[in-house]
Amino acid sequence: MTLSAAEFIAAEDSHIAHTYHPLPVVVATAEGAWVTDVEGRRYLDCLAAYSAVNFGHGHPALIAAAKAQLDRVTLTSRAFHNDRLGPFVGALAALAKKDLVIPMNTGAEAVESGLKAARAWGYRVKGVAPDRANIIVADGNFHGRTITIISFSDDATATTDFGPFTPGFRSVPYGDAAALEAAIDGNTVAVLLEPIQGEAGILIPPADYLPAVRDITTRHNVLFIADEIQSGLGRTGATFQCDNLGVTPDLYLLGKALGGGIVPVSAVVGNSDILGVLGAGEHGSTFGGNPLAAAVGSAVVALLETGEYQERARVMGARLAAGLERLIGFGVVSVRSAGLWAGVDIDPALATGRQVCELLLSRGVLAKDTHGSTIRFAPPLVITAEDVDFAVNQLEAVLLELRA
Ligand code: PLP
Repeated sequence: MTLSAAEFIAAEDSHIAHTYHPLPVVVATAEGAWVTDVEGRRYLDCLAAYSAVNFGHGHPALIAAAKAQLDRVTLTSRAFHNDRLGPFVGALAALAKKDLVIPMNTGAEAVESGLKAARAWGYRVKGVAPDRANIIVADGNFHGRTITIISFSDDATATTDFGPFTPGFRSVPYGDAAALEAAIDGNTVAVLLEPIQGEAGILIPPADYLPAVRDITTRHNVLFIADEIQSGLGRTGATFQCDNLGVTPDLYLLGKALGGGIVPVSAVVGNSDILGVLGAGEHGSTFGGNPLAAAVGSAVVALLETGEYQERARVMGARLAAGLERLIGFGVVSVRSAGLWAGVDIDPALATGRQVCELLLSRGVLAKDTHGSTIRFAPPLVITAEDVDFAVNQLEAVLLELRA
């Protein structure tokens, strides 16, 4: 079918529920950090599917693993064993220095699974009275879109008209360890946090926050659940952002890049004293742990074991941050960055984040706004130095255009 980009967009718009507001680009192919649209225009991908494409589009080792598995077996369900799942969960547990994995598909499912495990642990191990468990979360969080997850969101767009909500959650200011400790009571079973709040605009808490949370949760016999679905798997220059702070959570929630940008793969990773409380029939997913997902997930873990991508995130991230910081005062108000992940606040008097992203698109750079005037940059970790400079130069050109 040879439609124009506009025709593809019109075809999509007429039959899709409008739950997204995509930029007007229709991607047809992609390789590494670059995508090509249906009319042959090339764009530098500075979103990487919200960090699901950390290893770049079409990474040869990941595509090879997927292709080989497509010819063997793709789905067995967990009613039977498959020969890819054991190696995958073993490798992932070792990567996280834990011993058990719950394999799921989407990030939201990993979050739900972690919450269920924490509640079950609370009742069966901690001894909380039935149905009294509470879990502490942070203001401004984003953990997904299910009813339970939005039940503890403070984003009106995510919650309006979707109630009634799931009880049992308490939200405290992000980055404030004292407020978190004050919210804990005898029925608190877990604290769920993003080590960096991604959708909120790459909000990085004070360096002593996560260590303090670890200390507080340990003292109160409360689980510390780190949602590393976006911050984990190389993005911030370490396998997990918690590593950068010397913190070990009780449960890691992983997703996005775990599927190599090929298939949805998510997981809860923890030790058997917590995840071992769940018994047969208490949790599951038809596709969770399928052999195709496991084959790709194993190849992803193998890439992370080399340390090469974490190193690239550090080196290219420093270059990106330096370039973006140069623009402070020229239309950029502030820059927050961790590894190859940056939130850029545009002067709202100059333009909205959306307007800047549309202008970047016209200059061959794909980036995404969040919360009005913030743009996040999260290119694939395989990006070259030259391409980092290209992205920064195009942002500079957009700002000059807006200031003219
Ligand atoms: N948790 C975090 C920190 C996320 O950033 C996201 C998605 O952006 C999710 C959970 C939900 O993942 P998914 O969209 O795969 O359900």
